[in-house]
Amino acid sequence: MNSSSPGSGVTIVGSANIDIVYGVERIPGPGETLLASSAARYPGGKGLNQTVAAARAGAPTTFIGAVGHDEFGEELLATLTDDQIDTSLLRRSTRATGQAFIMVDANAENAIVVSPGANADVTALTDSDRACLQSTGVLLMQLEIPLDTVREAAAVAHAARATVMLNAAPAHALPAQLLADLDVLIVNEHEACLIGASDDLATASATLAALVPRVIVTLGAAGCALYEDGAEVGRVAAPRVAAVDTTGAGDTFCGAFAAAISDGAAYGDAAEFATHAAALSVQALGAVPSIPVRAAIEEARA
Ligand code: ADP
Repeated sequence: MNSSSPGSGVTIVGSANIDIVYGVERIPGPGETLLASSAARYPGGKGLNQTVAAARAGAPTTFIGAVGHDEFGEELLATLTDDQIDTSLLRRSTRATGQAFIMVDANAENAIVVSPGANADVTALTDSDRACLQSTGVLLMQLEIPLDTVREAAAVAHAARATVMLNAAPAHALPAQLLADLDVLIVNEHEACLIGASDDLATASATLAALVPRVIVTLGAAGCALYEDGAEVGRVAAPRVAAVDTTGAGDTFCGAFAAAISDGAAYGDAAEFATHAAALSVQALGAVPSIPVRAAIEEARA
């Protein structure tokens, strides 16, 4: 962690989508048609979810992303401003606002298809974007926007001694130069195995831990494992809760973790705070509506 970071607050460079969520008995197979038991629309996208999570966890938060000039874009802008997020660097694209089609089954498992739309326009950082990245305490990104932008933003923030975090989701091979600019890598089990190139989670996690100073592997209901300087340094157990929708659990974890680090928390304490935030988020439907505020996270931890 870059404890000497001269900046403050959390900046997210990432995606924003409208999530269309269908409740289904089970995820359909190829060629199969199922009737949904419910249909709902929520703000989403890993970037936006993590932004809302950081803001609700108490950090001054800025979002750099793109939405279309359409009704969905207005809805996402309203979501961000409702949570007092700085949207002065939000781009308005000529493409349609990104959309995600999400099915949630009776066991709270999900399957997701994303149409990126405007998110493809989160490219070429402006001078204002760069100034923001040079004054932030924490930069948090995901992989739902063009990889070149992720690489460029990481380089700018790293040079300014911000703490640079990547939630490598959806999983994608990570260029060496990007890895060199990261302070923290956060992945779930599936992403760890894909990026760490092994079916064995311990082997894959060790591979990743050798590449980035701090790595967190989230383990669903089992919590998360923390790695530091190449070795596992601890685990945080998740509280036992009744999960109804795990969509956005990882995003809540990442945003809350970034907020805690920007607030000066130690690595393990920040992971514990994030674990409680994520456990709260799985107990209600929808990604954004279920993201908890700081007071609720602190109450759950007490
Ligand atoms: P993703 O949402 O990216 O698939 P995980 O499933 O690993 O990631 O979940 C991220 C975090 O959310 C976990 O580390 C844990 O803190 C919390 N979480 C997920 N599922 C549950 C659950 N059933 N009960 C309690 N906490 C959960």
